[in-house]
Amino acid sequence: MPDKCPNCKQDFKQEPGYYTSALWVSYPIVLIIFIPLIVLGFTLDSLHSFFKYFYPIIIIFAFILQIPLMRIARAILLNMTIDYTTKW
Ligand SMILES: [Zn+2]
Repeated sequence: MPDKCPNCKQDFKQEPGYYTSALWVSYPIVLIIFIPLIVLGFTLDSLHSFFKYFYPIIIIFAFILQIPLMRIARAILLNMTIDYTTKW
């Protein structure tokens, strides 16, 4: 993550522990993505034994999704807490 925004020179180094709260931004996003997949897994599992691989695929998908989701959550947190509309 860059120290400053290359466009507006906004300092991205906030106080210590600032990005810990990005967890609370990513948490509902994870719920929105994975609760339907888990429910779908329950449904498919009763249909055919082929879908026994559905949950391992979801777990691998969760690990792959972690890095982009972390970055998206940081960007959302910055946009929620920093006022970009003020004219300097
Ligand atoms: Zn900027």
